[in-house]
Formats: sequence, structure tokens, C-alpha cells
Amino acid sequence: MALNNTQYDAIIREYEDKQTRNRHLLEERTAEVYAKVDGYRTLCESISTISVMQGKKLLDGDAHALTDLHSEIQNLISMKNQLLVSAGYPADYLEPVYDCPNCKDTGYIKGAKCHCFKQKVIDILYEQSGIQELLKRENFSVLSYQYYEGEDLERFQNTVNACRNFIKTFDSDYHNLFFYGTVGTGKSFLSECIAKELIEKGCSVIYSSSVKLFETLSVNIYDYKSKSVYSDSNADLYGCDLLIIDDLGTEYSRNVNPAILFSLLNERHINRKSTIISTNLSLEDFRNLYSDRIFSRISNQYSIYKFTGPDIRMIKKRLQNRK
Ligand SMILES: [Zn+2]
Repeated sequence: MALNNTQYDAIIREYEDKQTRNRHLLEERTAEVYAKVDGYRTLCESISTISVMQGKKLLDGDAHALTDLHSEIQNLISMKNQLLVSAGYPADYLEPVYDCPNCKDTGYIKGAKCHCFKQKVIDILYEQSGIQELLKRENFSVLSYQYYEGEDLERFQNTVNACRNFIKTFDSDYHNLFFYGTVGTGKSFLSECIAKELIEKGCSVIYSSSVKLFETLSVNIYDYKSKSVYSDSNADLYGCDLLIIDDLGTEYSRNVNPAILFSLLNERHINRKSTIISTNLSLEDFRNLYSDRIFSRISNQYSIYKFTGPDIRMIKKRLQNRK
């Protein structure tokens, strides 16, 4: 799949908006510091006057004068920085602000698409444009153990540690995770935590419900003449750094052919691209639904984690209703 022009233009506009927003933020900060920090503005003005002089001397070819001016500018800069910090501001308070420092919010690095651009393309193509907002809410910063007790708690803590380790070693180790357990026990939440951390690290992540994934994979599958053409058209699904499939099993009522999914998983495995699967099915139901062969493949290639405990979503809903 590829972006159409409207979608591409929308991304570019988003980058422009980002640049404008961050430029304004910097202007506001500068105005604030000028107003609050005595002498700061004068120092800035002196620096720019001397810089202009330096430019003139450079044209004159006066090497000696250039060295003097250079050290004078350095002096003023360090005075200026000291002034800022002693007024209680962070040292980088007046540095340019970027959402993505790698591409400085241009979307490109030396003519090639930045990871943030690639992720944006994925978000649009896989209709996960809401994901960035979702990940702002659902991430490790709101992780809570309060809903778990006893064995459930121990199990959940172990799984959280495994997830943190998955993130830490993601660049060096190839690893797949399989989460199973009853509804509302934290499977999707931990998948979202991982997605957020890895997107921030610059990895490409597709997060898809099983139903949606089957829809995407099924589109025109019978029209493709060869396997390679088919793979090309779903290149992101085959090639993204991490594919997260939520709620595997829910697609089953829709009469889909599971083989198309497992051929994708197999291909990703061969290319050592990680996948996380979560399902509400028990292992036994999973085996019955998808065959022994698929089950044994999953148990060989995935670290399997069981989730148990009360339905947290229900508890939260009940608490909210009480308010
Ligand atoms: Zn970027």
C-alpha cells in the first residue's frame, strides 16, 4: 500500500504546523527570558553586533582580529548561559525545540524519510491514526499493580519485567511474545506500553486488531499473480520492526482463512521481525481453533505469558459510574 497525494500532503502540512508551533514556543520563551532576566537581551545584542564585525573582518582577511572576536563571542555566550541558568531556567531553554530531534521536524534526513515519517505513513495506511493519542494515555507511566493479588500479581509482575526486557533488548535480540488470558487482565495495555516505547526509540510499529488485520490481508488476495507481488503490497506488515496483533481469535466468526495470517507470521519469523500476539482464548481453545501445527509453531517461536485476575476494565467502569 502507498500513500495517495492527499495523505502525503496532509503529513507535510503536519510537519509545517509542528515547525510553526515550535518556532512560536521558542519566541515566547525568548520574550519571557528577555523580560525576566536582567542583562540577557543586551548580551544577545552584543553577540550579534560582534558577529557582524567578525563577518566584515573575515572579508578583509584580518586573521588576528578574527581570533580576538571569536574568543570575545565565546565569552559573551558563556556569560549569557550562566545568566540563564542562575535565573533558574534549564540550560537548553532557548535552544530550538523539535518534536523529532533526528529530522528537526522536517520528516527527512539527508533526503531519506525519517523514522517519524515512516511511522506516520504506517499510522495512516493501517488506520491507526488514533494510536499516538491512545499511547499518550496507555503507557508505563500509568502502570498499576493495584488490581492484582497473590498469584495473579506475581504473574503480572513477571510479565511486566519480560516486557521491559523485550524493549531493552529489542535492537539486539529477536523475540516474540504471546499473551493469553481472560478479558481485561492487561494484555492490550502491556502491548500498548511496548508500542509506545519502541515508537519513541524510532522503530516502526503496526498495532492492529486481528479482525482489521485479516481485512487488510484478505483484500484482493486472490487477484495477485504471485506471492512476491502480494508481499510487496503489504510490505509494511511484512517488514515493520514490530507487529502487534490484538485479540487474535475474534476474526474467526468472520469466516476468514487463517492460513494468510500464519504465512505472514512465518515470513516475519524467517526475517527475524518481532511480533506480539494477544488473545482471550485459552491455549486449548487456541489449539483447537487453529490446528496443532500452528500451535506448535507458536509455542516454539514465542515466549508465552498467561494473564489472570479480575476484569480491570469492568472495575474501572464501575468506579467511574460511582463518581
Ligand atoms: Zn523525524
